[in-house]
Amino acid sequence: MVSDTMIKELTGIVGKENILTEKVERICYSYDASNQLYLPDIVLFPSSAKEISLILKLANLNNFPVTPRGAGSGITGGSLPIGGGVVISLERMNRILSVDENNMMAIVEPGVINGDLQAKVAGKGLFYPPDPSSMKFCTIGGNIAECAGGPRAVKYGVTRDYVLGLEVVLPSGEIINTGVGTMKGVVGYDLTRLLIGSEGTLGIVTKASLRLIPMPEAFKTMLVVFKDISDAAGSVCKITRLRITPTTIELIDRDSIRCVEDNLNTGIGDEADAVLLIELDGSREEVDRHIASLKDLFLKNNAVDVKVASGKRELKALWRLRGAISASLLKIKPNKMNEDVVVPRSRIPELITGVKSIAAKKGLTIPCFGHAGDGNIHVNVLYDALDVDETNQAKEAVESIFKLTIELGGTISGEHGVGIAKAPYISMELSQAAIDLMKEIKKTFDPKGILNPGKIFIN
Ligand SMILES: Cc1cc2nc3c(=O)[nH]c(=O)nc-3n(C[C@H](O)[C@H](O)[C@H](O)COP(=O)(O)OP(=O)(O)OC[C@H]3O[C@@H](n4cnc5c(N)ncnc54)[C@H](O)[C@@H]3O)c2cc1C
Repeated sequence: MVSDTMIKELTGIVGKENILTEKVERICYSYDASNQLYLPDIVLFPSSAKEISLILKLANLNNFPVTPRGAGSGITGGSLPIGGGVVISLERMNRILSVDENNMMAIVEPGVINGDLQAKVAGKGLFYPPDPSSMKFCTIGGNIAECAGGPRAVKYGVTRDYVLGLEVVLPSGEIINTGVGTMKGVVGYDLTRLLIGSEGTLGIVTKASLRLIPMPEAFKTMLVVFKDISDAAGSVCKITRLRITPTTIELIDRDSIRCVEDNLNTGIGDEADAVLLIELDGSREEVDRHIASLKDLFLKNNAVDVKVASGKRELKALWRLRGAISASLLKIKPNKMNEDVVVPRSRIPELITGVKSIAAKKGLTIPCFGHAGDGNIHVNVLYDALDVDETNQAKEAVESIFKLTIELGGTISGEHGVGIAKAPYISMELSQAAIDLMKEIKKTFDPKGILNPGKIFIN
């Protein structure tokens, strides 16, 4: 519990209009997309690294927990204050400080919305590729903390590949700069990489220097319908063998298609067992040539329909289908465990077959969709939390899926992180020695354990 004296001191730091103490207001900061609820004692909206530094110094002296929060769109509970205390919302620190066209870099505050940055740099012919499907509302700070990816990761990589340097407030309150303001740099340990994906447990990002690339000349999207999901999954590696790297290769299975089809009327026939949603970019000539080669490949691989979006409207309609899946699945069951396992691309067919067999054994529906191009499939275990037996079956299914993923040479999280949701499972993937070393790193950064406690490690 944060005492009244502390609340007074914190109010002095951020100003009385930048603090929430009423329960009804705090509730808005008590949940994220993981569907769990932990009420903070207070919520603060600082406007600078200096203010955050003062808050963390106070937390260290008085032993109260502090949890950083971007947009709260995380899926593993990373921004939830599980022990109460202070939530620091970065939403006021939302300025794009500079876009340097000569050096193709942007400097941003952490509360900038990913999609706003994309739009701003696109206006200058530049491209910031990391595109989580939540890009219209998630923040760059949250993206850095989770090392967010998105459909374009197959060609362009993830957030980590675009962060050159950071300004970070350490749990002690000290402000440090990591990385470089140049394209290269190798002085000392790579603290930037250590902080990316650390889920707000090692420091609070207050500024980021991001790498930009030139905006490709042309984009085209195709939707390919298969009667059998194994043909769709099998096609993914064949694309690579043609030495074509699409911008995205998204796979959507039958259950996911049916959920969105009722509302969006996409015209995908009943016979569809799976679709691939593929985007290509490059020069106009190259894109057209690759579309023709891929069409040929898919038809040889038993595709029953290949649509190429012509014009912005059709393109939007195709991507709306992908964007609507996550929420639509709740039509089947009121709750879901949304896992983001990754396997080597060549093992996707085995992953899909394995998941479907786990679903059949447990009597559950487990739709699969996502970034097949980089082997990252979103496996959604659907259940009704009011049904105790079904909930237990769902938990067992998740554990079996993780086991299968690791057997296939994969990882239990490609982009959503560990947070609270996956903390019980990290020892399935990491050795005890690796976990102990990570805990030592956490202790070095945060000896009193005040910053985002209870995340990644169970204790
Ligand atoms: C519909 C939907 C689709 C999604 N699609 C994708 C997808 O395609 N790819 C993907 O990777 N994710 C996806 N996500 C998950 C989520 O959007 C990402 O994890 C995103 O990066 C979280 O950003 P946020 O601003 O909401 O962060 P939050 O959820 O607020 O926080 C996430 C973590 O970051 C920490 N944090 C936030 N800001 C800072 C900061 N400034 N400094 C230090 N730590 C900080 C928090 O403490 C927490 O641990 C999706 C979520 C939804 C709801």
